[in-house]
Amino acid sequence: MEIRDRLRAWREAPGSVAVFTDIDGTLAPIVPTPDMSEVPAELKELLGRLSERYLLVAGISGRKTEDALDLVGLADVVYFGNHGFEILRDGEVEVTPEALPYQERVQELEDNARRELEPLGAFVEEKGITASVHYRNAPPEVGDRSVEFVKREGERLGLRITVGRGVVEARPPIRADKGTAVRTLVEDYRPERAMFIGDDTTDLDAFRELVTLREEGTLEEILRVGVASEEGPPEITSEADIVVDGVEGVGEVLRALL
Ligand SMILES: [Mg+2]
Repeated sequence: MEIRDRLRAWREAPGSVAVFTDIDGTLAPIVPTPDMSEVPAELKELLGRLSERYLLVAGISGRKTEDALDLVGLADVVYFGNHGFEILRDGEVEVTPEALPYQERVQELEDNARRELEPLGAFVEEKGITASVHYRNAPPEVGDRSVEFVKREGERLGLRITVGRGVVEARPPIRADKGTAVRTLVEDYRPERAMFIGDDTTDLDAFRELVTLREEGTLEEILRVGVASEEGPPEITSEADIVVDGVEGVGEVLRALL
């Protein structure tokens, strides 16, 4: 009830509100390979209406920004992709300048992973400034092998490694994550209130940055919406202000904003 009251207040002042959302597992149900993902038509329609009314609607994703745009299909939404390394708005993609010197090393890891892990059944996604190895639809031992291989290569090349739901990723060792993405957008668009909806480990950076932004007074109110799943980390529910069940539950939150 308390959350419903808060959403009602936000609904009455849409020009002061930023809506940030993860995409995979939050707007699009998790499927065996990332190219099979789809955002349900109803959610696209809701996001389209929100982006007309609200100060800002942004999709913040581990994916490349172009993939995020393809998946959501809305040009009015801002996309912060590749874990905070890339932003796409008004048709232009920018890469965080500090990350560019690491481009070649990420490429080397990606090439090695493709040679070593793809024959075993893992899938190496072409991502540019970050590299992702997916093992969801491979046998469990291939998952372990993928994580071990990418961690070792990452250490050798001086890259940062993270493990998520069925995926291990390498990225430049500078701070760029969903938290820095949220901060950049809040500083650009100056909302008074902001929410973030997410289901996985990398989304916790966004939850925590919202808390920091509120504590320092940059934001007046925040809302952390956790999407519960069997594979997600426990902090997604323990750190959230409200927990919803899967993509359908996310639809309810978006509907409450209209
Ligand atoms: Mg997700």
